[in-house]
Amino acid sequence: MAKKHIHIIGGGLAGLSAAVFLSSRTDAQIALYEGSPTFGGRARSFYDSKLDRLIDNGNHLILSGNDAVFDYLNKIDSMNSLTSSGIPLFPFFDLDENKHWDVSLSNGRFPWWLFSKNRRVPGFKLPELMALWHLIKANHSQTVADCLVNGEFSRRLLKPFAISVLNTSCEVGSAILLGSVVRQSLLKGGKACVPYFPKKGLSETFVKPALSLIKLQGGKIHATSRLSELHRQDGYVDYFIVNNEKIELNSEDQVILAVNPYTARQVLSPILPDIPLPDEFESILNLHYKVDFALQMKGSVEKARFIGVIGGISEWIFVKDGVISVTVSAANRFTGSDPENLSKLIWQEIRKTLEPFLFSPLPEYVPSYRLLWEKRASFAATIEQNKRRPSCYTICPNLFLAGDWTATGLPSTIEGAIRSGYKAAQAIL
Ligand SMILES: Cc1cc2nc3c(=O)[nH]c(=O)nc-3n(C[C@H](O)[C@H](O)[C@H](O)COP(=O)(O)OP(=O)(O)OC[C@H]3O[C@@H](n4cnc5c(N)ncnc54)[C@H](O)[C@@H]3O)c2cc1C
Repeated sequence: MAKKHIHIIGGGLAGLSAAVFLSSRTDAQIALYEGSPTFGGRARSFYDSKLDRLIDNGNHLILSGNDAVFDYLNKIDSMNSLTSSGIPLFPFFDLDENKHWDVSLSNGRFPWWLFSKNRRVPGFKLPELMALWHLIKANHSQTVADCLVNGEFSRRLLKPFAISVLNTSCEVGSAILLGSVVRQSLLKGGKACVPYFPKKGLSETFVKPALSLIKLQGGKIHATSRLSELHRQDGYVDYFIVNNEKIELNSEDQVILAVNPYTARQVLSPILPDIPLPDEFESILNLHYKVDFALQMKGSVEKARFIGVIGGISEWIFVKDGVISVTVSAANRFTGSDPENLSKLIWQEIRKTLEPFLFSPLPEYVPSYRLLWEKRASFAATIEQNKRRPSCYTICPNLFLAGDWTATGLPSTIEGAIRSGYKAAQAIL
């Protein structure tokens, strides 16, 4: 009898996590197809010849409370590729007020940090905590802005947290999505909020070890293999086309579609015309500046290796080996801006923000830089778009969906992508 095949199409973190999970749990032949030459999708690193540095397509931060992420990293034996201060420390700088502070959470669930002036947001007032209550109790029709309480706690912590988590402005961002992240991070206390990021690069942490494990477990990996059609006959997917090659399915075979939502729309609309899918997106802008001058850090940024910025274009500045990188979320608002001008303005923000943490100031000239604009970095995490996220099950019994845009209950995050991959894999078993 022919061996059962499970075809996973899309080699981002959703597809990779489904393949990692299934290749260890089933005798079926696992085949993973990726349309581009490299795997990782929206979370990948590459060597940039202009900067002569390994850089990420975008800075990615994960938190210790991201259970699926850490489970995945354990499975692929990649925990040692992460770096962290090991404590829930978040330095911030307010450009308007030229002021620095550290948010330093207490480990347990009780928020002792809110009672210490040195550990909380300056200007915090107790009634502002109601915002957290509103967020975790939010319903499907409320925006983040509906839940916030005016004051410094919102301006200096919840708003920047919301925009980077949702990649969508607070005015239209879904409160229920932010509430689910608050429940899994802030409400669990500092032990769930320790920030981590890759020591070298995203591919080195999340992608390459996963591909090695999938191969070791007998899975087949196909790069540069683009899906152009899924065909449905008598309710089941009976074949699909990759690079003009027809791949026929036997009655036992199954497919996990783990591509991005716009590709999903193209291939699903002929066979599942009524399926709702997110169709509005937000971009993320990353600027990587080459550091080829002495950079000696001190204070909390030396420990954390990143800092949140209030009152500027920049939102987070990451200090990495040989590179200073800036993230700007919900960046559609900067469409049409002159890249050179942006790079100059952002470099001035970096100089001002990092000055208190450096033994000698950064140079005035703008160093060599790479601007990366991920135009469809995430679905827009609005109330309407959240309602358009499909389940992993479809009306075709042998077709399952995975991706950060499926109904994970989370915004577009690595945690959401990996959970969706696991969920589709579990649905198959
Ligand atoms: C700049 C940026 C910063 C981010 N920062 C963070 C962060 O700090 N923390 C966090 O948790 N998350 C962050 N995210 C979100 C995170 O990267 C995504 O949620 C996650 O990578 C999505 O994985 P995915 O597998 O669902 O989708 P994708 O990564 O989009 O994977 C889909 C894959 O399908 C492939 N594909 C598409 N069409 C076809 C086809 N026709 N045939 C075959 N293959 C195809 C694509 O090439 C891609 O590899 C960030 C994202 C970006 C872009």
